[in-house]
Amino acid sequence: MLGGSLLFLWPPATAIAVHSACAMGLLLPTWILGADEPMEPGLLMTFFVLGTAVIAAAGQLHRYKAVKRQSAAHVEVEHLKAQAEQFAATLQERTTELEMLASTDALTGLANRRTFEEVLAQRWRWLGREQEPLALLMCDIDHFKAYNDTLGHAAGDRCLQQVAEALLKAVQRPMGLVARHGGEEFAVILCEADTLGATAVARRIRRALHEIGIGHPSSPTSKRVTLSIGVASTVPTRTRDPHTLLETADSALYEAKQKGRDRVVGGRSDSSNV
Ligand code: GH3
Ligand code: MG
Ligand code: MG
Repeated sequence: MLGGSLLFLWPPATAIAVHSACAMGLLLPTWILGADEPMEPGLLMTFFVLGTAVIAAAGQLHRYKAVKRQSAAHVEVEHLKAQAEQFAATLQERTTELEMLASTDALTGLANRRTFEEVLAQRWRWLGREQEPLALLMCDIDHFKAYNDTLGHAAGDRCLQQVAEALLKAVQRPMGLVARHGGEEFAVILCEADTLGATAVARRIRRALHEIGIGHPSSPTSKRVTLSIGVASTVPTRTRDPHTLLETADSALYEAKQKGRDRVVGGRSDSSNV
C-alpha cells in the first residue's frame, strides 16, 4: 500500500489518511465478527485486495485531477502570456504613434519645431567634431496672409502641404532635415554644406515650387506662390551656439523680404534670378 501511494505520489497527509482508513477496514470485520473468532484467510485476503484497489483507484483519481488542474493552469498561463504579449505590442505601437505625433507637424507631416531644435543641436555637435560646415535655410511663403484671405484657410492649408512636398523633393541630402518652423515658415538643415552648396539647394527648392505652380491671385510679387529664402552656413565651434546660425539665416531671410521677396539671400552673393 505504501508502495502504491509512493507510486501515485500522494501528499503525506492523504497517504496517512488512506492507510489509516484501510487499517480500520481490516480491523472492522474482526470487531464485528468478534475478537475471539480468527478471521478467514480468504476473507482477510479479500479485504486486503479491496483495500489496495481502493488506494489504487483513489490514487489514480487524485493523479487524474492533479494532471487536469495542471493542464488547466497551463492553458490559463499560456492565455495570460498571449494577452501580455498582445498588450506589449499595442503599447509599443501607441508609444511609436505618440512619438511620431510629438515629433512631426500634423498638417504637413514634416518634422516640427521641437525636432528641428533637437536635430540642429545634434548636428552642430557632430559637425563641430568633424570640422565640416553646417548650413541652414529659412524659407517663408510670400504674402501668405493675402493667399488665405483670398482663397480661404483650407486652401492655405493645402498650399502649405504642397510647399512641404516641394521642399522634400528638392532636399534629398543625407543627415539633412526639412521642418515646419511655424506658420508659413520652413527650416532646412544641410550637413557638410557650405554657402555655395546650400544656395544650390535653395535654388532647387524654388524650382520645385515653380514646377508645382500654385496660383496666388492676390500676390503683388508673382502670379504663383513664391518663397523667400535666407541661407547661412558655418563650421560649428564649441564656443558658439547653433542659434547664431539661425539668427544669420533669419537676417538673410529678412533681407530677401526687404529686397522684394521671391529670392534667395545669403552667403557671399545674393541670387534673385534663380
Ligand atoms: P510676408 O510675405 O511678409 O511673409 O507676408 P505674409 O502674409 O506671408 O506673412 P504674415 O506673417 O503677415 O502672415 C502669415 C500668415 O500665415 C497669417 C496666418 O494666418 C497664416 N498661417 C499661419 N499658419 C497657418 C496654417 O497652419 N494654415 C493656414 N491656412 N494659414 C496659416
Ligand atoms: Mg510669409
Ligand atoms: Mg512668416
